[in-house]
Amino acid sequence: MSVHSLPKTALVAGGAGFVGSHLCDALLARGMRVICVDNFHTGRRRNVAPLQNDRRFRIIEADVATDILPDLAVDWVFNLASPASPPHYQSDPVRTMMTNVVGTGNLLAFAARGKARYLQASTSEVYGDPELHPQREDYWGHVNPIGIRACYDEGKRAAESLCYDHMRTGKLDVRVARIFNTYGPRMRADDGRIVSNFIVQALEGREMTVYGDGRQTRSFCYVSDLVRGLIALMAVEETPEGPVNLGNPDEFEVLDLARQVREAIPTRAEIVFRPLPSDDPKRRRPDITRARDLLEWTPEVPLREGLAQTAAWFSVPAHRAIETEELARPAE
Ligand code: NAD
Ligand code: UDP
Repeated sequence: MSVHSLPKTALVAGGAGFVGSHLCDALLARGMRVICVDNFHTGRRRNVAPLQNDRRFRIIEADVATDILPDLAVDWVFNLASPASPPHYQSDPVRTMMTNVVGTGNLLAFAARGKARYLQASTSEVYGDPELHPQREDYWGHVNPIGIRACYDEGKRAAESLCYDHMRTGKLDVRVARIFNTYGPRMRADDGRIVSNFIVQALEGREMTVYGDGRQTRSFCYVSDLVRGLIALMAVEETPEGPVNLGNPDEFEVLDLARQVREAIPTRAEIVFRPLPSDDPKRRRPDITRARDLLEWTPEVPLREGLAQTAAWFSVPAHRAIETEELARPAE
């Protein structure tokens, strides 16, 4: 799509987070105005600090679950507002569920009032510990509804349900991206997810923590590929009938990832084994046929290259600095 055919203003809820801040960058680079809505729960001001000098960029500090947004003229609403790393979303599970259910409900209503197009950042976690491999969008999933991951998995499933209920009213154009494990610069050093953990541990010569036997698999997508996919899904004229998987179908065992990180970063860090968290999915890999067919989207950055970019970014000590005050703030 050419820059000239893009609409003018996008609202990005969760725009100060890891993926959201890259999305804000990409939308501005395509000539759009961007309103970032964030409560800085897991996101950081420094992710968007370089954008503050751009007059087309604006931040609204708000919680999507508890604050009412003012009516604003926007063409696109991206909802990325939700903690995404298991330790973060499990640190306050009730808040995670409310953000995903009530927050999504509020943003859908906001988009409907303003006649904006809406995109929901959903997740491969809606498939739970999948019995179908690779995962296609028509698979209904295998989720423990009362486990420690449920606040996120079920919150995202309820959010999808709200999206399609709104869609069926005929008054809202909704797109749902089921995002698979994504990594890259601007993850937090204390994020707790595998790629940032392994890279920071390797850089600092600390033990690299493999959970379980390390034979479980994930498929890792570099953030620039994901952001391109999110914009393509929002921009495509014909609304896809259902959710669209966005992820890199190259699948790796966790132990394999540890070895690849050690190849990218010369380190004396040793691999150690720690207990596997409960309900940890055993295998995960997206079937991206739908994204290929509808969006002509396919990931381009191989793991080796993405790891090198991410390691280079984390090798700057300031990028590993930890800000804990937002995460420590109690729920309202
Ligand atoms: P992140 O934690 O870095 O970003 C989430 C952002 O949402 C943060 O800026 C946070 O402060 C904000 N936020 C959280 N609760 C909020 C609330 N109630 N009101 C306003 N803002 C709020 O996580 P991320 O990895 O960038 O993930 C972004 C989105 O993509 C999330 O919705 C996540 O579920 C989804 N997703 C990410 C991945 C991945 O691998 N990164 C995979 C699947 C889905
Ligand atoms: N994992 C690991 N060591 C870590 C962090 C995670 O072995 O330091 C494992 C985790 O148990 C899971 C996989 O890596 O099997 C991916 O975990 P992550 O938290 O990144 O994402 P998710 O489980 O949500 O896919």
